Amino acid sequence: MVDADQTFVIVGGGLAGAKAAETLRSEGFTGRVILIGDERDHPYERPPLSKGYLLGKEERDTVFVHEPAWYAQADVELHLGQTVVSVDRAAKAVHLGDRAVIHYDKLLLATGAEPRRLDVPGTGLVGVHHLRRLAHADRLRQVLTGLGRDNGHLVIAGAGWIGLEVAAAARTYGAEVTVVEPETTPLHAVLGPELGQMFTDLHAEHGVRFHFGATLTEITGQDGMVLAARTDDGEEHPAHDVLAAIGAAPRTGLAESAGLEIADRAHGGGVVVDGSLRTSDPDIYAAGDVAAVHHPLYGTRLRVEHWANALNGGPAAARAMLGQDVAYDRVPYFFSDQYDVGLEYSGWAPPGSYDQVVVRGDAGKREFVAFWLSEGRVLAGMNVNVWDVTDTIQKLIRTGARPPAESLSDPSVPLESLLG
Ligand SMILES: Cc1cc2nc3c(=O)[nH]c(=O)nc-3n(C[C@H](O)[C@H](O)[C@H](O)COP(=O)(O)OP(=O)(O)OC[C@H]3O[C@@H](n4cnc5c(N)ncnc54)[C@H](O)[C@@H]3O)c2cc1C
Repeated sequence: MVDADQTFVIVGGGLAGAKAAETLRSEGFTGRVILIGDERDHPYERPPLSKGYLLGKEERDTVFVHEPAWYAQADVELHLGQTVVSVDRAAKAVHLGDRAVIHYDKLLLATGAEPRRLDVPGTGLVGVHHLRRLAHADRLRQVLTGLGRDNGHLVIAGAGWIGLEVAAAARTYGAEVTVVEPETTPLHAVLGPELGQMFTDLHAEHGVRFHFGATLTEITGQDGMVLAARTDDGEEHPAHDVLAAIGAAPRTGLAESAGLEIADRAHGGGVVVDGSLRTSDPDIYAAGDVAAVHHPLYGTRLRVEHWANALNGGPAAARAMLGQDVAYDRVPYFFSDQYDVGLEYSGWAPPGSYDQVVVRGDAGKREFVAFWLSEGRVLAGMNVNVWDVTDTIQKLIRTGARPPAESLSDPSVPLESLLG
């Protein structure tokens, strides 16, 4: 049993951090819980920032993980707008930007990720944007409203999830949208080429222009304002605003300078944790976007940058901090909404890991489930406008099922019957 006079400190006021604080209390921890976040807003969920909130359909107060009053009620000491600048492992203390020093008995790093920056001339111009924080979404909402009103042009660098979701929102506002992407299909690193075409078609039908096989090399401007975006094939795309949506990097700076083990950058980086989300220091844990955990199903270390991983990983780390047995091996999961297409993806099957893609349902109507297989084994599944199948898809993945491809692709064969 953990002593009541212990202090557990959580660095990072995002979903993983807030959920960890909640779990410490719901599991009966009576010591001090201190949650430190460098944003001024209370912990919030980021998915609405590129969907309902960006579109003006969801109110600001719906994005928060807890109501502001919850923190005092749960006796969680919240330090907002405060940055932890270093971790002194020998003294078991964190140092804040205002020079305050806070002792910890156990520490959770839930520092998340930050948008990768474009490394090209012109990024200092006023109309160049990123999307990670509420303030970014507020700004982008204003920008999209203006572009829609004035038939303005938005160039998006990167056809990943955030790039595509913002493209959908921008078209809904009526902006002209060009997406520049070095690969030949959207979402290539996640889905491979086979399913990418569906997203190309979906967005093209809504008026998005894609420029594939090209990299943005310069943003030109005049009087501090964006004029155009140039690509490495010499093309110039008119632009009033540019969104850099080229991925996120884990915020490992604190962990690195504290000498904790960091995963290979080529494989996504992140703070190395074991199956109980413990770092190379037994009193320090990591969860959410920043943590790289060995996944027993895939036999590799994964850093999962998705909502469900923060939602479940924060609580799992909290339970481990309390001394409970934790084996964090959830099947990776995420969701996306673009126009009238909603989807969920479970598993992990980047290009090179699978040898077959099987589609069940009508891909043309965008109502189907796709499966990625390796030697017949289901690695991942994505349901598009088909609902209530995620549990079964995850069971197929978890059990290492090898259903016959002809049954998997046949909607008249119940998915459950393929569990064996
Ligand atoms: C626009 C957008 C849309 C998304 N949509 C989806 C989606 O549809 N589906 C999905 O599955 N996932 C989605 N995601 C991903 C999902 O939001 C993330 O996986 C999730 O936010 C990770 O939570 P986290 O708590 O690990 O990190 P974060 O949410 O990044 O929180 C970390 C917090 O720690 C703070 N911090 C960092 N360092 C310090 C420090 N030294 N001191 C103090 N504070 C610090 C950060 O500022 C931040 O507030 C989306 C992300 C974005 C940005």
